[in-house]
Amino acid sequence: AVPVALVSGLSRAARIGVLIKGGGALETLAGIRVLVVDKTGTLTHGAARLVSVRTLPPFEEVEALGLAASLEQASGHPMARALVSEARGRGLALSRPEAVAEIPGAGVAGIVAGRRVVVGGPRLLREHAGAFPRIEEERDEPAASATVLVAIDGSPAAILTFADPLRRDGGRSLDALRACGVSRVVLATGDRRAVAEALAAGLRIDAVAADLDPADKTDIVAAERRNGPVMMVGDGVNDAPALAAADLGVALGARGAAAAAEAADVVLLVDSLAPLPEAIRIARRARVIAV
Ligand code: ADP
Ligand code: MG
Repeated sequence: AVPVALVSGLSRAARIGVLIKGGGALETLAGIRVLVVDKTGTLTHGAARLVSVRTLPPFEEVEALGLAASLEQASGHPMARALVSEARGRGLALSRPEAVAEIPGAGVAGIVAGRRVVVGGPRLLREHAGAFPRIEEERDEPAASATVLVAIDGSPAAILTFADPLRRDGGRSLDALRACGVSRVVLATGDRRAVAEALAAGLRIDAVAADLDPADKTDIVAAERRNGPVMMVGDGVNDAPALAAADLGVALGARGAAAAAEAADVVLLVDSLAPLPEAIRIARRARVIAV
């Protein structure tokens, strides 16, 4: 039987929007020392906004955006949602994509209106359309942004820049976690290093790991367990293996992927990291009472 103190800890946590999947997870939460945190959709809003479109000849903006947004209807990624809502806002007619393959943490490929379309990050797009200009060298990256590339029929078609700012409570939540025993914070992202480091600046992050695929994220979590019990917080399909590998996986449930919530031990029902420190305090009190 689960001790009464644990049951009441679980229900107290649920009341602040933190769903903890059992007494074991509550006890682990009480002893967390290391935080590995995802960037896009976790430290940032996940409600990105398209701020610039650069098309590459002979492609034109309406065509490239329409095809890319049509394809992204099949993805739940924050950039996908931003692109679809931008296209709808511009009144573009979207077609239903076919033969869609989403590569978690990389992007999505498929057929739209008979055209081969790939939308995603630089790693994936170089494989599909090698001749993309080197965006790293092209311009200085504004701090809170993400770049998404579009290829059509094997050719580079567009470079999209999204503003994806830090959550308003992001810095405060990290500070509050440090105040309740988290001694090391690692940012782990599938995005590029320049973007990750710009976001990490000023957040007192101990290490930044960028350009990660889902297996790399899992390796980071496994390596960090040397430094103490690890909590991994993430929102995406690409985070699911790392969430499962951590001592405690925490998924952002409100807008995050179902696969992340399934792999996690804790699901945040609110779209915010803010309740996590209080959840740790609840877990500590439950442990003290249960002993
Ligand atoms: P994080 O690990 O920080 O959450 P992701 O791995 O989810 O970041 O995304 C990193 C990058 O991968 C994005 O900036 C984007 O370039 C690309 N990407 C991944 N999935 C998609 C998608 N469905 N549509 C567009 N870009 C994507
Ligand atoms: Mg993410």
